[in-house]
Amino acid sequence: MKLKVCGMKYQDNIEQVAAIQPDYLGFIFYEKTPRHFNTKIPKLSSDIKKTGVFVNEDLNKVIQKINEFDLQAVQLHGEEAPFYCNMLRTTTLLKKPVEVIKVFSVMDGFNFKILDEYEAVCDYYLFDTKGKLPGGNGYTFDWSLLNDYPSTKLFFLSGGIGIDEVEDIRKFKESDASKYCYALDVNSKFELEPGLKNIGVLREFINKLSNNKKMQEYNVDERGYYGNFGGAFIPEMLYPNVEELRQNYLKIMGDPDFKKEFDQLLKDYVGRPSPLYFAKRLSENYNTKIYLKREDLNHTGAHKINNTIGQILMAKRLGKNRIIAETGAGQHGVATATVCALMGLECIVYMGEIDIARQAPNVARMKMLGAKVIPALSGSRTLKDATNEAIRDWINNPVNTHYIIGSAIGPHPYPDMVTRFQSVISEEIKWQLKEQEGRENPDYVAACIGGGSNAAGTYYHFLHEENVKIIAVEAAGLGVDSGESAATSVLGKEGIIHGCKTLLMQTDDGQITEPYSISAGLDYPGVGPMHAHLSKTGRAEFMSITDSDAMEAGLELSKLEGIIPAIETSHALAIFKHKTFKQEDIVVMSLSGRGDKDLQNYIDYFKI
Ligand SMILES: *Cc1c(COP(=O)(O)O)cnc(C)c1O
Repeated sequence: MKLKVCGMKYQDNIEQVAAIQPDYLGFIFYEKTPRHFNTKIPKLSSDIKKTGVFVNEDLNKVIQKINEFDLQAVQLHGEEAPFYCNMLRTTTLLKKPVEVIKVFSVMDGFNFKILDEYEAVCDYYLFDTKGKLPGGNGYTFDWSLLNDYPSTKLFFLSGGIGIDEVEDIRKFKESDASKYCYALDVNSKFELEPGLKNIGVLREFINKLSNNKKMQEYNVDERGYYGNFGGAFIPEMLYPNVEELRQNYLKIMGDPDFKKEFDQLLKDYVGRPSPLYFAKRLSENYNTKIYLKREDLNHTGAHKINNTIGQILMAKRLGKNRIIAETGAGQHGVATATVCALMGLECIVYMGEIDIARQAPNVARMKMLGAKVIPALSGSRTLKDATNEAIRDWINNPVNTHYIIGSAIGPHPYPDMVTRFQSVISEEIKWQLKEQEGRENPDYVAACIGGGSNAAGTYYHFLHEENVKIIAVEAAGLGVDSGESAATSVLGKEGIIHGCKTLLMQTDDGQITEPYSISAGLDYPGVGPMHAHLSKTGRAEFMSITDSDAMEAGLELSKLEGIIPAIETSHALAIFKHKTFKQEDIVVMSLSGRGDKDLQNYIDYFKI
């Protein structure tokens, strides 16, 4: 079935929706709607039919608009008579012929007899809902009425179609009534506000419709699993908290007010969209085309803020006024303290005593932002001990507290929730690449993996695109066989960490092995369950990069492009030394963070 997206209004948004390649884009020239179109249409691919929507408009004016905007179709929403439709098909005043789509509103029933006189004078029918609700928005009519459809003319199905209707549409597709259904027409259910479409949800709708089986292959299932990995392995005392989140997170994320607030903060506070930068000198050096997705330019210097913004809004919707988090290197702690200051919420960050000593500047930042940093004094006094403390706190404060996890890990629904908040990265890459290269899919997407959140966001909208290859980069530390490493996909075995089943570095009797990497953000003994699945199924190619290769790659980017990357990111950048790409390949790499925080490390390493 074809797709028409109707009610387009804003230039940028039109370009973004066009990048998804719908078959029709609708512009409403009726003045009494908030979606009234009154600007210019940007240049669109010739595969997309520009459709003007009119309601009982003067025929001359319709003709004038068709010529002015080079419309390929008109959709007539009023009581336009058959002769009116016929005029549009036969007039010599049009520069080019147009398709005529006549709309009929269906309520509880429909008298198909009305169609008779239109059979010869229009190209398609469109069946829309007649308002039980004012304006007819958001309400689907009973599609089984179309079982009695007497015509063979193809029609558009419209009225209240949204992401929640995917199941119904699939059933409808199998019914007789769909035999002559030519296209789906969507509008208000994909909006952030009238005329402004939510690209992420549109994409998800299209993916779900076209390719549901494959979609489920790499996305989380209802039980919270990616293949064999994931789930929620939590103490019973935590069950109510996690269950509350599980039952609500998709509903809240799907709420237009939530999306609006999230998108607004990403834009005005974080500084999104982050640029997709063609790295010319780096590309020349490796004889391929390298694009860097500049998450380093976000407020607080990395991708982590995308997730903490999402989760703080989630916490507010759930009525929580106290935020806890754990942090190793302090980056997630800073991102959490930042959004708590932004929202005026109490913030407690657990951090291993050793890490507090090692990461003094980040501890100072958190304190300046108003957070309370509590040292974890047990065990090795590092990240996993801080995690234990955070979980203990959550058990003791189940009602008013939200636990912000900083990567695509933890019990379901955390990995999926974090991935969805980070998926804005690949959402932007798609339209940015389309703008710059004329195609939205690169040949490769690549990212470094600690727990896997920047990678999950970078891959998300490409997971089901078979011609996009995925590269995941882990920290090999001093070498995979050295005993000082964090290359989980190579060294890990199935186990349970932070509430989920995933790949995990462990001894034969199941004790978690202390990982090592020069990069604090990759120094983690597990990996998110999505990545464990991508590794086991072979969907992603996993590479391990040593400390020294990463440091050299970080220095190289600084010299070649004037960008000092975080050492985590430097690991991803080092793949070009180890893998040869074709000259015409497009490789999009997540530049997950900036190197300011790592300056001392670079100084010590290179004796600068
Ligand atoms: C935290 C961090 C990472 C690793 O975390 P993921 O969840 O795997 O993305 C990577 N890069 C930077 C700059 C970080 O701060």
